[in-house]
Amino acid sequence: SKAKLFDQNTEVKTSFKDVAGLEGAKEEVQEIVDFLKFPEKYTKLGGKIPKGALLVGPPGTGKTLLAKAVAGEAKVPFFSLSGSDFVEMFVGVGASRVRDLFKQAKEKSPSIIFIDEIDAIGRARGKNAMSGSNDERENTLNQLLTEMDGFGTNTNVIVIAATNRADILDKALMRAGRFDRQIYVDLPDVRERKEIFEVHLRPLKKAKDLDLDFLSKQTPGFSGADIANVCNEAALIAARQGKKAVDKQDFLDAVDRIIGGLEKKNKIIT
Ligand code: ATP
Repeated sequence: SKAKLFDQNTEVKTSFKDVAGLEGAKEEVQEIVDFLKFPEKYTKLGGKIPKGALLVGPPGTGKTLLAKAVAGEAKVPFFSLSGSDFVEMFVGVGASRVRDLFKQAKEKSPSIIFIDEIDAIGRARGKNAMSGSNDERENTLNQLLTEMDGFGTNTNVIVIAATNRADILDKALMRAGRFDRQIYVDLPDVRERKEIFEVHLRPLKKAKDLDLDFLSKQTPGFSGADIANVCNEAALIAARQGKKAVDKQDFLDAVDRIIGGLEKKNKIIT
């Protein structure tokens, strides 16, 4: 396959300011920022810096954003790949990709490795473990575990993984010294939706009739990604009509459109 090995971003601009709501999760990852910036502060008392943290929560709630913000706040490089990239990979490719990823991250340490959709490689070993692709998935998973176990205490690479299915993960991943910290990233409540709207309204030309409290109440069940979509869609709807600013009606139309999209998606799933 021509897919690139993994993404590497040495100058992450994302910061905690870009992550709205998620106060509890931000507090927990602040500790990881601290580990990366001042490792000696922890190791000099004999403590071991954790190697991994698992972000758990529904799609679009800001897990990737939060992991990136950790790298941005700590000013360290961000290496990332998605578990779904490993599906249908040729034998041996997954494991060697993981090996290269860790090698690079160690060379550039302190650094963050982010693995999105870890469930795609980290699913508990199932009944059909005989098929070839499953073997390859297991090889990849084993390589990941080997790399994490092989970290010395002063490697200073922290692996953050994300999933919306923590329940199906192989328990070996959660053992001490691996992803032994779980951080929950939930759908936003009405107050958090308002904060997310504020972030994504920043770049828009806003009409005076915009009412954030109203919009936040009109969007129960929306994720941060849905709200980002609403803001963008509203701007496009306004522009299509030649308006000078995005107004309340544009937002209501955008909300309707996103709800329509969500319903369609759910129909396909069920
Ligand atoms: P998935 O599980 O689908 O990978 P995710 O939880 O990693 O989703 P992100 O990719 O981080 O979600 O979110 C997608 C986009 O939605 C972000 O780039 C951002 O624009 C917006 N977003 C999501 N959550 C937030 C948030 N808490 N604050 C601000 N923007 C958010």
